Amino acid sequence: GAAGLRKPEWLRVRIKGGETFEKVNAIVHEHRLATVCEEAKCPNMSECWSSGTATIMLMGDVCTRACRFCAVNTGNPRGWLDAEEPANTARSVELMGLKYVVLTSVNRDDLPDGGAGHYASCVREVKARNPQTAVEALTPDFLGVLTDVETVVDSGIEVFAQNVETVRRLTHPVRDPRASYEQTLDVLAHAKRYRPDVLTKTSLMLGLGETEDEIVECMDDLCAANVDILTFGQYLQPTRHHYPIDRYVTPEEFDKYRRWGLDKGFLEVVSGVFVRSSYRAEQVLQKNNVG
Ligand code: SF4
Ligand code: SF4
Repeated sequence: GAAGLRKPEWLRVRIKGGETFEKVNAIVHEHRLATVCEEAKCPNMSECWSSGTATIMLMGDVCTRACRFCAVNTGNPRGWLDAEEPANTARSVELMGLKYVVLTSVNRDDLPDGGAGHYASCVREVKARNPQTAVEALTPDFLGVLTDVETVVDSGIEVFAQNVETVRRLTHPVRDPRASYEQTLDVLAHAKRYRPDVLTKTSLMLGLGETEDEIVECMDDLCAANVDILTFGQYLQPTRHHYPIDRYVTPEEFDKYRRWGLDKGFLEVVSGVFVRSSYRAEQVLQKNNVG
């Protein structure tokens, strides 16, 4: 537990603003576009929006799961889907002038295909209207149903992401009981096997109580699953009812894991205090000549 754990200096500084950011911000508010960036009060917003990157949440804001690190509300949407969502998402991407969009979603265990078909429709509509925009799908695990994974991987995306979130030992209690470490590895491995031209990506939060050995073991497991891109960020407890933060990881340690990851052969490792899974995604893609 870390009651009274003081926020270190490196967590307080963040610069806001910039001309491009203000422009995108005005469009977002004029058209009432919903982004995860804003809802999560993400510290990278000005940087991401200025460089043409944003994250949009699909299929509502009620999740059928209850991970203990996550601030999203749990419930049962009973099959609800917004038929206008593919068109509206495509329009948002166009209005914001995005070069790279992350489409993410809650888990929809209430839908027969976990929402894979709807997800794919959204991607196709975004691509039809914004052919130059690279799309990353940061998806649920579809309960490990590989045909649902294929539906999304085949929709025209450049990057397929599914977050492992934490090391093996902490998966439970940190993630919902229906998620599993092995299931996430299987989903990632299958996506790569099925469509080798689509990059695969996963993210870990640090500061949950994991040891250095466990982080290394996890990197090895992800390597074995042929994951291309790995990100590490600091876990921040959303409220005191959520999973307790164990520690603040120093910037030096984040750098160290980046080096280790690159040595292990990941195509790219983005690692830092403020790193969210979508952070610097566009630069990673450019560097690797995709999109
Ligand atoms: Fe949005 Fe992700 Fe960038 Fe945060 S890191 S501003 S959520 S795109
Ligand atoms: Fe949050 Fe995703 Fe877990 Fe749902 S499945 S509670 S959205 S982390």
